[in-house]
Amino acid sequence: MPGVFDILSADGFEQVAFCHDRSTGLRAIIAIHSTALGPALGGTRFYPYADEQDALVDVCRLAKGMTYKHAVCGNDLGGGKAVIIGDPGTDRSEALLRAYGRFVEGLGGRYLTAEDVGTSQADMDVVRRETRHVTGVSEALGGSGDPSPATALGVLWAMRAVAERLWGSGSLAGRHVVISGVGKVGAALAAHLDAEGAKLTLADVDDTRLGAVAERHGTMTVSSDTAHALPCDIFAPCALGAVLNAVTIPEMRCDAVVGSANNQLASLADAERLRHRSIVYAPDFVANAGGVINIAEEAHGYDRDLAYARTQAIYDTLLAVFDRAEVEGTTTTQAAERLAEDRIEAVSRVRLLRTTR
Ligand code: NAD
Repeated sequence: MPGVFDILSADGFEQVAFCHDRSTGLRAIIAIHSTALGPALGGTRFYPYADEQDALVDVCRLAKGMTYKHAVCGNDLGGGKAVIIGDPGTDRSEALLRAYGRFVEGLGGRYLTAEDVGTSQADMDVVRRETRHVTGVSEALGGSGDPSPATALGVLWAMRAVAERLWGSGSLAGRHVVISGVGKVGAALAAHLDAEGAKLTLADVDDTRLGAVAERHGTMTVSSDTAHALPCDIFAPCALGAVLNAVTIPEMRCDAVVGSANNQLASLADAERLRHRSIVYAPDFVANAGGVINIAEEAHGYDRDLAYARTQAIYDTLLAVFDRAEVEGTTTTQAAERLAEDRIEAVSRVRLLRTTR
Protein backbone atom coordinates (compact mmCIF):
# COMPACT_ATOMS: atom_id res chain seq x y z
CA MET A 1 0.00 0.00 0.00
CA PRO A 2 1.51 3.41 -0.96
CA GLY A 3 2.32 5.80 1.89
CA VAL A 4 0.79 9.27 2.21
CA PHE A 5 3.85 11.06 0.81
CA ASP A 6 4.09 8.57 -2.08
CA ILE A 7 0.53 9.53 -3.08
CA LEU A 8 1.24 13.24 -2.67
CA SER A 9 4.53 13.35 -4.53
CA ALA A 10 3.29 11.21 -7.44
CA ASP A 11 0.83 13.92 -8.44
CA GLY A 12 2.57 17.01 -7.09
CA PHE A 13 0.23 17.81 -4.21
CA GLU A 14 1.04 20.87 -2.13
CA GLN A 15 -0.67 19.96 1.12
CA VAL A 16 -3.06 17.49 2.68
CA ALA A 17 -4.61 18.25 6.06
CA PHE A 18 -6.04 15.51 8.26
CA CYS A 19 -8.68 16.97 10.57
CA HIS A 20 -9.97 15.30 13.71
CA ASP A 21 -12.32 16.65 16.36
CA ARG A 22 -12.81 14.37 19.34
CA SER A 23 -16.02 15.92 20.68
CA THR A 24 -18.00 15.60 17.42
CA GLY A 25 -16.19 12.59 15.95
CA LEU A 26 -15.25 14.62 12.84
CA ARG A 27 -12.78 12.88 10.56
CA ALA A 28 -12.02 14.95 7.47
CA ILE A 29 -9.26 15.24 4.89
CA ILE A 30 -8.60 18.45 2.97
CA ALA A 31 -6.38 18.09 -0.11
CA ILE A 32 -4.78 21.08 -1.80
CA HIS A 33 -3.38 19.98 -5.13
CA SER A 34 -2.27 23.33 -6.52
CA THR A 35 -2.50 27.02 -5.67
CA ALA A 36 -0.53 28.08 -8.74
CA LEU A 37 -3.49 30.03 -10.15
CA GLY A 38 -5.06 31.08 -6.84
CA PRO A 39 -6.57 29.61 -3.69
CA ALA A 40 -7.71 26.02 -4.05
CA LEU A 41 -11.48 25.73 -4.43
CA GLY A 42 -13.47 22.50 -4.36
CA GLY A 43 -16.44 21.00 -2.58
CA THR A 44 -16.73 18.98 0.59
CA ARG A 45 -17.87 15.40 0.01
CA PHE A 46 -19.59 13.69 2.96
CA TYR A 47 -19.37 9.97 2.34
CA PRO A 48 -19.11 6.69 4.30
CA TYR A 49 -15.75 5.56 2.89
CA ALA A 50 -14.88 1.93 3.57
CA ASP A 51 -11.53 3.00 5.02
CA GLU A 52 -9.21 5.98 5.37
CA GLN A 53 -7.06 4.95 2.42
CA ASP A 54 -10.12 5.06 0.13
CA ALA A 55 -10.97 8.52 1.45
CA LEU A 56 -7.41 9.77 0.89
CA VAL A 57 -7.21 8.40 -2.65
CA ASP A 58 -10.63 9.87 -3.51
CA VAL A 59 -9.95 13.33 -2.10
CA CYS A 60 -6.62 13.50 -3.94
CA ARG A 61 -8.17 12.37 -7.24
CA LEU A 62 -10.96 14.93 -6.88
CA ALA A 63 -8.60 17.78 -5.86
CA LYS A 64 -6.34 17.19 -8.86
CA GLY A 65 -9.42 17.19 -11.12
CA MET A 66 -10.35 20.61 -9.74
CA THR A 67 -6.93 22.00 -10.69
CA TYR A 68 -7.61 21.11 -14.32
CA LYS A 69 -11.21 22.29 -14.24
CA HIS A 70 -10.35 25.76 -12.89
CA ALA A 71 -7.33 26.13 -15.15
CA VAL A 72 -9.05 25.25 -18.40
CA CYS A 73 -12.11 27.43 -17.76
CA GLY A 74 -9.99 30.48 -16.92
CA ASN A 75 -10.68 30.74 -13.19
CA ASP A 76 -7.98 32.28 -11.00
CA LEU A 77 -8.34 29.36 -8.62
CA GLY A 78 -6.42 26.24 -7.77
CA GLY A 79 -7.48 22.66 -7.17
CA GLY A 80 -8.64 21.40 -3.82
CA LYS A 81 -11.25 19.17 -2.32
CA ALA A 82 -12.30 17.86 1.07
CA VAL A 83 -13.98 14.73 2.35
CA ILE A 84 -15.76 14.15 5.62
CA ILE A 85 -15.71 10.45 6.44
CA GLY A 86 -19.14 9.35 7.63
CA ASP A 87 -22.76 8.87 6.73
CA PRO A 88 -24.37 12.25 6.05
CA GLY A 89 -27.75 10.75 6.93
CA THR A 90 -26.75 9.96 10.51
CA ASP A 91 -23.48 11.79 11.23
CA ARG A 92 -24.37 15.30 10.05
CA SER A 93 -24.77 17.81 12.89
CA GLU A 94 -24.29 21.52 13.40
CA ALA A 95 -21.43 20.84 15.83
CA LEU A 96 -19.61 18.58 13.36
CA LEU A 97 -19.99 21.00 10.45
CA ARG A 98 -18.80 23.91 12.60
CA ALA A 99 -15.79 21.88 13.75
CA TYR A 100 -15.06 21.25 10.08
CA GLY A 101 -15.46 24.98 9.34
CA ARG A 102 -12.82 25.80 11.95
CA PHE A 103 -10.33 23.53 10.17
CA VAL A 104 -11.11 25.29 6.86
CA GLU A 105 -10.56 28.63 8.64
CA GLY A 106 -7.23 27.33 9.95
CA LEU A 107 -5.93 27.02 6.40
CA GLY A 108 -6.16 30.80 6.17
CA GLY A 109 -7.80 30.99 2.75
CA ARG A 110 -5.49 28.56 0.92
CA TYR A 111 -8.57 26.33 0.59
CA LEU A 112 -12.10 27.55 -0.17
CA THR A 113 -14.85 25.02 0.32
CA ALA A 114 -18.28 24.49 -1.29
CA GLU A 115 -21.05 21.91 -1.33
CA ASP A 116 -20.59 18.53 -3.01
CA VAL A 117 -22.07 15.02 -2.85
CA GLY A 118 -23.51 14.54 0.64
CA THR A 119 -23.39 18.22 1.61
CA SER A 120 -25.88 20.98 0.83
CA GLN A 121 -26.09 24.71 0.63
CA ALA A 122 -27.66 24.66 4.11
CA ASP A 123 -24.53 22.85 5.36
CA MET A 124 -22.32 25.52 3.81
CA ASP A 125 -24.38 28.17 5.60
CA VAL A 126 -23.47 26.40 8.86
CA VAL A 127 -19.78 26.16 7.87
CA ARG A 128 -19.93 29.91 7.06
CA ARG A 129 -20.53 30.61 10.75
CA GLU A 130 -16.92 29.55 11.41
CA THR A 131 -15.12 30.70 8.29
CA ARG A 132 -15.34 33.17 5.42
CA HIS A 133 -13.54 30.67 3.20
CA VAL A 134 -16.69 29.00 1.92
CA THR A 135 -18.51 29.54 -1.37
CA GLY A 136 -21.94 28.61 -2.67
CA VAL A 137 -23.67 29.74 0.51
CA SER A 138 -27.22 30.96 0.18
CA GLU A 139 -27.94 34.22 -1.60
CA ALA A 140 -29.15 35.70 1.70
CA LEU A 141 -25.57 35.32 3.00
CA GLY A 142 -24.11 36.95 -0.13
CA GLY A 143 -23.40 33.72 -2.00
CA SER A 144 -24.21 32.73 -5.57
CA GLY A 145 -26.80 30.14 -4.59
CA ASP A 146 -27.38 26.83 -6.35
CA PRO A 147 -24.74 26.36 -9.10
CA SER A 148 -26.91 23.94 -11.12
CA PRO A 149 -28.53 26.51 -13.46
CA ALA A 150 -25.06 27.82 -14.40
CA THR A 151 -23.81 24.27 -14.91
CA ALA A 152 -26.75 23.52 -17.22
CA LEU A 153 -26.10 26.71 -19.17
CA GLY A 154 -22.46 25.71 -19.58
CA VAL A 155 -23.46 22.27 -20.88
CA LEU A 156 -25.77 23.97 -23.37
CA TRP A 157 -22.89 26.12 -24.67
CA ALA A 158 -20.70 23.01 -24.83
CA MET A 159 -23.37 21.35 -26.98
CA ARG A 160 -23.46 24.39 -29.24
CA ALA A 161 -19.69 24.11 -29.72
CA VAL A 162 -20.06 20.44 -30.59
CA ALA A 163 -22.87 21.27 -33.04
CA GLU A 164 -20.66 23.91 -34.66
CA ARG A 165 -17.86 21.41 -34.95
CA LEU A 166 -19.93 18.52 -36.28
CA TRP A 167 -22.63 20.20 -38.31
CA GLY A 168 -21.23 23.64 -39.11
CA SER A 169 -23.81 25.53 -37.04
CA GLY A 170 -24.18 26.04 -33.30
CA SER A 171 -27.94 25.58 -33.53
CA LEU A 172 -29.42 22.60 -31.70
CA ALA A 173 -32.88 22.97 -33.29
CA GLY A 174 -34.09 19.58 -34.51
CA ARG A 175 -31.14 17.73 -32.94
CA HIS A 176 -32.01 14.64 -30.92
CA VAL A 177 -30.50 14.77 -27.43
CA VAL A 178 -30.79 11.95 -24.89
CA ILE A 179 -30.38 13.21 -21.31
CA SER A 180 -29.64 10.55 -18.72
CA GLY A 181 -30.39 12.00 -15.28
CA VAL A 182 -32.96 14.78 -14.95
CA GLY A 183 -32.00 16.08 -11.51
CA LYS A 184 -31.04 19.69 -10.91
CA VAL A 185 -28.74 20.02 -13.92
CA GLY A 186 -30.47 17.59 -16.29
CA ALA A 187 -33.89 19.18 -15.80
CA ALA A 188 -32.53 22.70 -16.38
CA LEU A 189 -30.69 21.47 -19.46
CA ALA A 190 -33.91 19.88 -20.79
CA ALA A 191 -35.64 23.26 -20.43
CA HIS A 192 -32.90 25.04 -22.42
CA LEU A 193 -32.93 22.42 -25.16
CA ASP A 194 -36.71 22.38 -25.37
CA ALA A 195 -36.68 26.18 -25.79
CA GLU A 196 -34.06 25.75 -28.50
CA GLY A 197 -36.24 23.32 -30.48
CA ALA A 198 -34.18 20.16 -29.87
CA LYS A 199 -35.87 16.77 -29.81
CA LEU A 200 -35.46 15.21 -26.37
CA THR A 201 -35.50 11.74 -24.86
CA LEU A 202 -35.08 11.56 -21.09
CA ALA A 203 -34.00 8.86 -18.64
CA ASP A 204 -33.76 8.69 -14.85
CA VAL A 205 -33.88 5.97 -12.21
CA ASP A 206 -36.39 8.11 -10.31
CA ASP A 207 -39.66 7.51 -12.17
CA THR A 208 -41.54 10.31 -10.42
CA ARG A 209 -38.93 12.90 -11.31
CA LEU A 210 -38.62 11.55 -14.84
CA GLY A 211 -42.40 11.66 -15.36
CA ALA A 212 -42.63 15.24 -14.13
CA VAL A 213 -39.82 16.55 -16.38
CA ALA A 214 -41.00 14.54 -19.39
CA GLU A 215 -44.55 15.83 -18.99
CA ARG A 216 -43.35 19.43 -18.67
CA HIS A 217 -41.62 19.22 -22.05
CA GLY A 218 -43.83 16.60 -23.75
CA THR A 219 -40.83 14.34 -24.39
CA MET A 220 -40.22 10.61 -24.76
CA THR A 221 -38.50 8.58 -22.06
CA VAL A 222 -36.17 5.59 -22.15
CA SER A 223 -34.90 3.17 -19.52
CA SER A 224 -31.77 4.46 -17.79
CA ASP A 225 -30.07 1.09 -18.50
CA THR A 226 -30.32 1.52 -22.26
CA ALA A 227 -30.29 5.33 -22.65
CA HIS A 228 -26.65 5.35 -23.81
CA ALA A 229 -27.49 2.97 -26.68
CA LEU A 230 -30.39 4.96 -28.16
CA PRO A 231 -29.61 6.38 -31.62
CA CYS A 232 -29.32 10.17 -31.25
CA ASP A 233 -27.17 13.17 -32.11
CA ILE A 234 -25.93 13.90 -28.57
CA PHE A 235 -25.90 11.71 -25.48
CA ALA A 236 -25.87 13.81 -22.29
CA PRO A 237 -24.82 11.95 -19.12
CA CYS A 238 -26.15 14.07 -16.24
CA ALA A 239 -26.21 11.51 -13.42
CA LEU A 240 -23.36 9.29 -12.31
CA GLY A 241 -19.72 8.87 -13.31
CA ALA A 242 -18.07 6.02 -15.25
CA VAL A 243 -20.95 5.77 -17.75
CA LEU A 244 -18.46 5.76 -20.63
CA ASN A 245 -16.73 2.40 -20.40
CA ALA A 246 -15.67 -0.71 -22.29
CA VAL A 247 -19.23 -2.07 -22.23
CA THR A 248 -21.26 1.06 -23.05
CA ILE A 249 -19.05 2.69 -25.70
CA PRO A 250 -19.40 -0.12 -28.28
CA GLU A 251 -23.19 0.09 -27.80
CA MET A 252 -23.42 3.85 -28.32
CA ARG A 253 -25.20 5.23 -31.39
CA CYS A 254 -24.60 8.96 -30.97
CA ASP A 255 -22.34 11.47 -32.70
CA ALA A 256 -21.25 13.19 -29.50
CA VAL A 257 -21.23 12.97 -25.72
CA VAL A 258 -21.77 16.21 -23.79
CA GLY A 259 -23.04 16.13 -20.22
CA SER A 260 -22.64 17.42 -16.70
CA ALA A 261 -21.74 14.23 -14.82
CA ASN A 262 -18.30 14.22 -13.21
CA ASN A 263 -15.76 11.55 -14.16
CA GLN A 264 -17.78 10.21 -17.10
CA LEU A 265 -14.88 8.12 -18.38
CA ALA A 266 -14.34 4.90 -16.44
CA SER A 267 -10.68 5.09 -17.49
CA LEU A 268 -8.50 7.16 -19.81
CA ALA A 269 -8.60 4.27 -22.30
CA ASP A 270 -12.28 5.08 -22.76
CA ALA A 271 -11.41 8.49 -24.23
CA GLU A 272 -9.42 6.59 -26.85
CA ARG A 273 -12.32 4.16 -27.38
CA LEU A 274 -14.64 7.11 -28.12
CA ARG A 275 -12.11 8.62 -30.51
CA HIS A 276 -11.72 5.29 -32.26
CA ARG A 277 -15.51 5.21 -32.79
CA SER A 278 -15.46 8.86 -34.02
CA ILE A 279 -17.74 9.94 -31.19
CA VAL A 280 -16.90 13.54 -30.29
CA TYR A 281 -16.39 13.80 -26.54
CA ALA A 282 -16.67 17.10 -24.66
CA PRO A 283 -14.43 16.44 -21.61
CA ASP A 284 -16.63 16.57 -18.53
CA PHE A 285 -14.42 19.02 -16.66
CA VAL A 286 -14.79 21.50 -19.54
CA ALA A 287 -18.50 20.96 -20.24
CA ASN A 288 -19.61 21.11 -16.61
CA ALA A 289 -17.46 24.07 -15.51
CA GLY A 290 -20.41 26.50 -15.42
CA GLY A 291 -20.92 25.81 -11.72
CA VAL A 292 -17.35 26.69 -10.72
CA ILE A 293 -17.28 29.68 -13.06
CA ASN A 294 -20.40 30.91 -11.28
CA ILE A 295 -18.91 30.34 -7.83
CA ALA A 296 -15.61 32.00 -8.78
CA GLU A 297 -17.52 35.23 -9.37
CA GLU A 298 -18.23 35.40 -5.63
CA ALA A 299 -14.65 36.58 -5.16
CA HIS A 300 -15.49 39.88 -6.92
CA GLY A 301 -18.92 40.39 -5.37
CA TYR A 302 -21.34 38.07 -7.12
CA ASP A 303 -22.98 39.33 -10.34
CA ARG A 304 -25.13 36.71 -12.07
CA ASP A 305 -25.05 38.40 -15.49
CA LEU A 306 -21.26 38.48 -15.45
CA ALA A 307 -21.05 34.89 -14.24
CA TYR A 308 -23.39 33.67 -16.98
CA ALA A 309 -21.51 35.67 -19.61
CA ARG A 310 -18.27 33.97 -18.51
CA THR A 311 -20.01 30.60 -18.64
CA GLN A 312 -20.67 31.10 -22.36
CA ALA A 313 -16.89 31.06 -22.88
CA ILE A 314 -17.08 27.26 -22.51
CA TYR A 315 -18.06 27.38 -26.20
CA ASP A 316 -14.68 28.87 -27.24
CA THR A 317 -12.72 26.73 -24.78
CA LEU A 318 -14.21 23.59 -26.22
CA LEU A 319 -13.49 24.62 -29.81
CA ALA A 320 -9.87 25.24 -28.73
CA VAL A 321 -9.81 21.76 -27.18
CA PHE A 322 -11.10 20.18 -30.39
CA ASP A 323 -8.52 22.07 -32.48
CA ARG A 324 -5.68 21.00 -30.23
CA ALA A 325 -6.80 17.37 -30.20
CA GLU A 326 -6.91 17.39 -33.98
CA VAL A 327 -3.52 19.05 -34.43
CA GLU A 328 -1.77 16.84 -31.86
CA GLY A 329 -3.65 13.64 -32.72
CA THR A 330 -4.79 13.09 -29.13
CA THR A 331 -8.06 12.53 -27.35
CA THR A 332 -10.06 15.60 -26.39
CA THR A 333 -9.39 14.79 -22.73
CA GLN A 334 -5.63 14.90 -23.26
CA ALA A 335 -5.97 18.13 -25.24
CA ALA A 336 -8.00 19.78 -22.46
CA GLU A 337 -5.48 18.66 -19.85
CA ARG A 338 -2.63 20.12 -21.90
CA LEU A 339 -4.45 23.43 -22.27
CA ALA A 340 -4.87 23.50 -18.49
CA GLU A 341 -1.22 22.57 -17.86
CA ASP A 342 -0.02 25.24 -20.31
CA ARG A 343 -1.98 27.92 -18.46
CA ILE A 344 -0.69 26.80 -15.06
CA GLU A 345 2.87 26.74 -16.33
CA ALA A 346 2.61 30.15 -18.00
CA VAL A 347 1.11 31.81 -14.92
CA SER A 348 3.65 30.13 -12.63
CA ARG A 349 6.48 31.39 -14.86
CA VAL A 350 5.18 34.97 -14.70
CA ARG A 351 4.90 34.71 -10.89
CA LEU A 352 8.44 33.36 -10.64
CA LEU A 353 9.76 36.19 -12.81
CA ARG A 354 8.00 38.76 -10.60
CA THR A 355 9.44 37.31 -7.39
CA THR A 356 12.99 37.03 -8.74
CA ARG A 357 13.06 40.55 -10.18
P1 NAD B 1 -28.96 15.51 -8.86
O1 NAD B 1 -28.74 14.62 -7.71
O2 NAD B 1 -29.88 16.69 -8.70
O3 NAD B 1 -29.50 14.68 -10.11
C1 NAD B 1 -28.99 13.45 -10.50
C2 NAD B 1 -30.14 12.69 -11.15
O4 NAD B 1 -29.62 11.47 -11.70
C3 NAD B 1 -31.26 12.29 -10.17
O5 NAD B 1 -32.51 12.64 -10.72
C4 NAD B 1 -31.10 10.78 -10.05
O6 NAD B 1 -32.32 10.11 -9.82
C5 NAD B 1 -30.54 10.43 -11.41
N1 NAD B 1 -29.83 9.17 -11.51
C6 NAD B 1 -29.13 8.51 -10.55
N2 NAD B 1 -28.62 7.37 -11.04
C7 NAD B 1 -28.98 7.33 -12.34
C8 NAD B 1 -28.73 6.41 -13.40
N3 NAD B 1 -28.02 5.29 -13.19
N4 NAD B 1 -29.28 6.65 -14.60
C9 NAD B 1 -30.03 7.77 -14.82
N5 NAD B 1 -30.29 8.69 -13.86
C10 NAD B 1 -29.78 8.45 -12.64
O7 NAD B 1 -27.51 15.98 -9.33
P2 NAD B 1 -27.13 17.23 -10.23
O8 NAD B 1 -26.75 18.35 -9.36
O9 NAD B 1 -28.15 17.43 -11.29
O10 NAD B 1 -25.76 16.72 -10.89
C11 NAD B 1 -25.77 15.76 -11.92
C12 NAD B 1 -24.32 15.38 -12.26
O11 NAD B 1 -23.61 16.54 -12.67
C13 NAD B 1 -23.52 14.78 -11.09
O12 NAD B 1 -22.60 13.86 -11.60
C14 NAD B 1 -22.78 15.97 -10.54
O13 NAD B 1 -21.60 15.59 -9.86
C15 NAD B 1 -22.46 16.71 -11.82
N6 NAD B 1 -22.22 18.14 -11.64
C16 NAD B 1 -23.19 18.91 -11.09
C17 NAD B 1 -22.98 20.27 -10.92
C18 NAD B 1 -24.03 21.16 -10.33
O14 NAD B 1 -23.90 22.40 -10.44
N7 NAD B 1 -25.10 20.63 -9.75
C19 NAD B 1 -21.75 20.83 -11.33
C20 NAD B 1 -20.78 20.01 -11.91
C21 NAD B 1 -21.04 18.66 -12.05
